[in-house]
Amino acid sequence: MSEDAVNKTKKRFIAGAVCPACSEADKLTMWNEDGVPHRECVACGFTDTLNEQGLSVPSELGTRVNQQAPKPAAAKVQTVQFFPNPKLKKPAD
Ligand SMILES: [Zn+2]
Repeated sequence: MSEDAVNKTKKRFIAGAVCPACSEADKLTMWNEDGVPHRECVACGFTDTLNEQGLSVPSELGTRVNQQAPKPAAAKVQTVQFFPNPKLKKPAD
């Protein structure tokens, strides 16, 4: 039950956290790098980073990305157009 000062950079398990990749509970560890929280799942090896908004940013690139411009999610709008068929069958007279 001894808490060392090392803990501030050590990985700590997040109690109750569920891995977004393998859905295992209590397998996620968390640590800070340069004030940026990172997470890692010890069960499946999934890692991600949390951005300023606390959103998960999967770290697949392997490169250091310090500048992340907050981009609003592009709203995908599906437009459906109906073209009335000009060759509609007219009732024969
Ligand atoms: Zn996992």
